[in-house]
Amino acid sequence: ARQFTRPLNDLANQFNTFLSAVAGAERVFEVLEEEEEAGDEQRAVELKTVKGEIEFSGVFFSYEQDVQTLSGIDLRVSPGQTLALVGPTGAGKSTVVQLLSRFYEPSGGQIRVDGQDICRIKRHSLRQHMGFVLQDTFLFQDTIRENIRYGKLEASDEEVEQAARLANAHAFIMKLPKQYDTVLSQDGGGISQGQKQLLSIARAILADPSILILDEATSSIDTITEIKIQEALYRLMKGRTNIVIAHRLNTIRRADQIIVLEDGKIIERGTHESLLRQRGFYHGLYDSKSSRSKKGQLG
Ligand code: ADP
Repeated sequence: ARQFTRPLNDLANQFNTFLSAVAGAERVFEVLEEEEEAGDEQRAVELKTVKGEIEFSGVFFSYEQDVQTLSGIDLRVSPGQTLALVGPTGAGKSTVVQLLSRFYEPSGGQIRVDGQDICRIKRHSLRQHMGFVLQDTFLFQDTIRENIRYGKLEASDEEVEQAARLANAHAFIMKLPKQYDTVLSQDGGGISQGQKQLLSIARAILADPSILILDEATSSIDTITEIKIQEALYRLMKGRTNIVIAHRLNTIRRADQIIVLEDGKIIERGTHESLLRQRGFYHGLYDSKSSRSKKGQLG
């Protein structure tokens, strides 16, 4: 396989903090819902359907006073498009995603989904239209069936199984002694890292969100599982707006748009080809890394 390498390696660790935040938030969504609604503006609306257009205009953000984490981010993703975010660790990629999912509010500028400022959209409503496939799959201590069904609580067993098939998870599940009734421990003990990812893909397929947020795995996974994951991911991404914190050259090349972040600013943007032609940061990343690794990772 063609691979970028991994200058963005630590990003995984950084993002994992966020991932657990998301997973945790997901888990306690119902508990928090009342509180969250309290934090919503009175006028906040529910979104029934979402096409998936995303727009950042002049977005600024700081976690801490006097430290600008994002400075004037402008980007636009059309419905159904894939945006790959690349750049060194600490550049602000996960922060972009956290702002989009309203875990934090920008200190300046606007973020719009389908033209609507997201601070006017109820948090739970916004996240209902978003799916997350993160490096660290959040699993409950429950059966595989229920873990997948978490993507859509009212789904029938048939729908759960159909999602698992599309996610290339059905085959490994059927090989387990208790199949869909296998009880997972919270850390997913008993199944591999790659299998956990297939379950999170199944969950997202079932949830069928308009917007998919994907943090590509960097951990080493055997080649066969890796191919299954890639295939399932492309199936999942099809027809959605995808924001990918991307490590794999294949994913980056397929993106409609690549944004290169450094120190909270967009330093380059374009497609893989146009960015290579610019011979700038992205080109350097590609050049130095692709010669060093055959593993196809950028990060
Ligand atoms: P990336 O995803 O590109 O690695 P991040 O968005 O995680 O970058 O981080 C951008 C910057 O914000 C980094 O300097 C990071 O240390 C800082 N940062 C991230 N999360 C927090 C936080 N919760 N509190 C304070 N600083 C943070």
